[in-house]
Amino acid sequence: MKLNEISGIGPKMVEKLNSINIYNMDDLIRDYPYRFDVLKKRDINDERYFDNFVSDGVVLSVPVISFFKGRMNRLTFRCNIQNKLVKVTIFNRAFLKNSITPGKVITVIGKYNPKMEVLTCTNIILKPLNKKEIIPVYHLCKGLTSKQLRGFINEGLKHYDVKNNVPDELMKKYGFINEGDALKIVHNPDDEDTLKEALKTLKYEELFTYMLKVRMLKKKNEEHNKAFVKKINEEKVNDFIKKLPFELTKDQLKVTEDMLNDLKDYTKMNRLLQGDVGSGKTVVSFILAYACYTAGYQSAMMAPTEVLAKQHYKNALDLFKNTDLKVSLLTGKMKQKEKKEIYNKLKNNEIDLLIGTHALISDGTYFNNLGLVITDEQHRFGVNQRLKLKDKALSPDVLMMSATPIPRTYALTIYGDTDVSSIKSMPKGRKKVITCVKKTNELKDVLQGVYDALKNNNQAYVISPMIEENESADYTNVNDLKHKFELAFKNYSIGMLHGKMDDEEKEKVMKEFKEGKINILISTTVIEVGVDVKNATVMVIFDADRFGLSQLHQLRGRVGRNNVQSYCYLISDKDTKRLKIMEEESDGFKISEADFKLRGQGDLFGSRQSGALSFKLSDVRRDYDLLVKVRDDVNEYMKKNN
Ligand code: ADP
Ligand code: MG
Repeated sequence: MKLNEISGIGPKMVEKLNSINIYNMDDLIRDYPYRFDVLKKRDINDERYFDNFVSDGVVLSVPVISFFKGRMNRLTFRCNIQNKLVKVTIFNRAFLKNSITPGKVITVIGKYNPKMEVLTCTNIILKPLNKKEIIPVYHLCKGLTSKQLRGFINEGLKHYDVKNNVPDELMKKYGFINEGDALKIVHNPDDEDTLKEALKTLKYEELFTYMLKVRMLKKKNEEHNKAFVKKINEEKVNDFIKKLPFELTKDQLKVTEDMLNDLKDYTKMNRLLQGDVGSGKTVVSFILAYACYTAGYQSAMMAPTEVLAKQHYKNALDLFKNTDLKVSLLTGKMKQKEKKEIYNKLKNNEIDLLIGTHALISDGTYFNNLGLVITDEQHRFGVNQRLKLKDKALSPDVLMMSATPIPRTYALTIYGDTDVSSIKSMPKGRKKVITCVKKTNELKDVLQGVYDALKNNNQAYVISPMIEENESADYTNVNDLKHKFELAFKNYSIGMLHGKMDDEEKEKVMKEFKEGKINILISTTVIEVGVDVKNATVMVIFDADRFGLSQLHQLRGRVGRNNVQSYCYLISDKDTKRLKIMEEESDGFKISEADFKLRGQGDLFGSRQSGALSFKLSDVRRDYDLLVKVRDDVNEYMKKNN
């Protein structure tokens, strides 16, 4: 059935409907109201409702029409409302004149002025007010009234056969209303309870249909995206794992096993490895690179910053020192000659694992036989960059790592075609960082904490959101703080780190901090993904309310890296309720979910990456629990029906 087959819809009306995104019958009947106004009789003496007054009343006089400004008109009449004589006016409803007759009971909705005893209506309904009435409110456009639209929708519902998109078994399981009936209810609600039921059904349907598509897509990808089967030398890999300087945690072992299976399989690996800061993701990715190497393939690892790339490179050199695997580093800062040498080796298969920054995806890099692509802190890379790296090989397996846990909701939707593995347990011996939210007038406690750490020969980070004084706000800044800390800690050495320093300076400061020559490092968030300084045990964050919880968690992850008790102080006078979550919670996954619920996906990943996920009824954040349920239902359904 087409839109113009509904009586009253001609070509002009079709255009109007198109302008509010209604292109076909399905769009029409699923053009859900964006709001429901609940009409309930209000006491005329209750000032809380003067602006949103609703009541019925008896018409006392024949309405008078006055025209003004050419096309405007005003209808005025007297009405007995709750035994008060009220003058009722409404604009541009001259056509109601003949329906409003003395003695008739009508419903009036509008703004009441008790002094003048005047009610200016936004709407008049020509019947008594039921105990309660629910009015669906729609997005409209010029030349389309709510009444018309509802008429079209109801006409459509009469003739259009709505099939249940949700399978019967699930409809039954949740006791859902037939979809067609649910639609009728939503567009013509009688009471709140059935409306709620209907919305529940339709919301579920919306998410179910979406998730089903995502799963289908994933399946299709699997069918079309075959990777080469990698013949891994398992003996060698197991031996490598055995010789690691530490024992892998249970989670590390589990994800390693899963991913090795991915490599062996002809389906292409497309996996997101999530794990809290310090949970040991890197070593897992190196095991994978090693496995690839035993199968005769090269691997590439891309990190978002030079500091991080170098750190990985150093770690890799260390881990692979007793193997034949050859590691190289490629960064943008390297001299052209050095780069050329690497390009050549890469082409000639003389490099097995190449670690680097964006330089990896520059046009000069040609791999001989790239089989595995690893991106660290993957959310820092744009989709295009990731694709470009993938394009460096025919069909590489892809491993993405992230310490900013992608909230499950987000992973479920945007990354619906990606497998997600998580490392949840920490290596043995780590202590939970004790976190305290402090007001600015409690700074003394914080300084005492820093002092205690220094006395113990440990080190501290102090973070501020700003580099310099900012005229618009009274936030702390690193320059000021450095000055203040120098006064408070006269016998200690204090360093400063921020984004405006050049790399050489930064590296020098970091090196000195690492070597213990600097006791307190005052910094902006440039240290977020930085060097691992095990001796640092205190993290102080000024103006903590300026940061997202996930970011605070990342910063906090810089301490607590040895077996000494570490502390994190969050200083702020604002938004302390949100910050208090950090006191309780040390699980990065839960924190990012809390953050996600509080601040939305945009803040976590930047709006461009958050994807155009627009549901009509559902809200990924608000309906988070439902989405998780639907996801499970879809998975089960797919399993049963294949
Ligand atoms: P992530 O990348 O997940 O933040 P890393 O892989 O950098 O974490 O690991 C953090 C530190 O913990 C590194 O120094 C690493 O060598 C160490 N580590 C990793 N796995 C273990 C383990 N199972 N036992 C002890 N230490 C480990
Ligand atoms: Mg890491």
